[in-house]
Amino acid sequence: MKKDAFALVFADDKGKVYDFPGLEATGMKAGRFFELNAATLVPLPESSELFLLPGRLPVGRDPETGAFRTLEGDPYSAGSPCSAVAAFIPPGWTLAHSAAFAEVPGAKALPLFAYGAVAFRDGRFWVSAVRVDEDARHDERLIDPSAVASGIAGLRALFPKNRLVPHLENCATVNACANAKNFFLGRFEAPVPTSPVCNAQCQGCISLQPDGRDFPATQKRISFVPDPEEIAELALFHIDRESAPIVSFGQGCEGEPTLAADTIEKAIRLIRRRTSKGAINVNTNASRPEALARLFDAGLTNVRVSLNSVREPYYSRYYQPRGYDVTRVAESVRVAKRAGGFVSLNYLSMPGFTDSKPEHEAFRRFVGENGVDMVQWRNLNYDPVRYFRELGLEGADEELIGVPEALESLRDAFPHLRMGYFNPVKKN
Ligand code: SF4
Repeated sequence: MKKDAFALVFADDKGKVYDFPGLEATGMKAGRFFELNAATLVPLPESSELFLLPGRLPVGRDPETGAFRTLEGDPYSAGSPCSAVAAFIPPGWTLAHSAAFAEVPGAKALPLFAYGAVAFRDGRFWVSAVRVDEDARHDERLIDPSAVASGIAGLRALFPKNRLVPHLENCATVNACANAKNFFLGRFEAPVPTSPVCNAQCQGCISLQPDGRDFPATQKRISFVPDPEEIAELALFHIDRESAPIVSFGQGCEGEPTLAADTIEKAIRLIRRRTSKGAINVNTNASRPEALARLFDAGLTNVRVSLNSVREPYYSRYYQPRGYDVTRVAESVRVAKRAGGFVSLNYLSMPGFTDSKPEHEAFRRFVGENGVDMVQWRNLNYDPVRYFRELGLEGADEELIGVPEALESLRDAFPHLRMGYFNPVKKN
């Protein structure tokens, strides 16, 4: 191995993680393998986790021949099996390569996480990723569990009849939702889930998965529509105690919020009757421009539109929308801009798709034509091999430009476009 090369990382049959300098670390995009180097590798950020990938063998690069090779077994224990290893990185970082692996026959789909390419050199782990946001609002090291517990007790005592309080308590304590924890700490973004239903069935929906899939949803979807008064009560409480508050509809534990637009509209009017302070945001699939227009009329300030692609058929193959298509999404963005709203795209990024030339060019056009204000880069939590199968792109050989280059290209084309991860605050 070259002196400055990064070594492959694998796990033994007990889950212990090792480096193996006999092969160089490798990344994967769209099922193809790539050499990893200092251009995209960064020291593994604090709060990252390493996952071993059952049913997947690590793939590395032979330093002599340059060929990519599957590690069939534990190189330190003859006859013992081994597994590929991936990194799950914290908010604010976007993956540039997925972990490189070969599936063994019959391997089940990976659960709903993002699987970054990991490497080892100089006594530490590295990951192929780019920093997109410096904001530390979801940094678990800054969230004190005992303060969250007292926040929960306080809110329960203050609002004993408000059904959102126990729901958010579950989000904070069981689902480990950073927004919910911060809400009980009285800071940043107050999540207000409202909709138990959705008009899409995303392949990687974290709040509802149909029976028969290999993996479960990771959160329990809200089972009731809160009253406008319940929403306004918590929203106003949060607005009063945070200097730059955000109240946010459309959370991981719900369906599509604009399907509860009647309730949300009433709630926003109740809030805005009392104060113009703070941002009121909706995270949405943007399928219902008319509903969005009503929410802006009531006092909504921000919208974050989630999408994996601006192109049919890739949008539909992932979102499986019922009764709308991606043209409605674009219309919603224009409606929001006409209403004076701040529009973010929650761009669900998968190395090899998001940084493919055709996707990037279409995305850049979409941003320019529709006057998008911000791109929030989210790692798509989905099996990085199955994703290309679901999209019908397995074996496709699209030209790739690279994730850092895709970010740079947007910055060059739109100097005022914000890049980041979190919803922006409104200065009051
Ligand atoms: S739009 Fe959101 S709630 Fe609806 S299926 Fe997709 S991820 Fe799930």
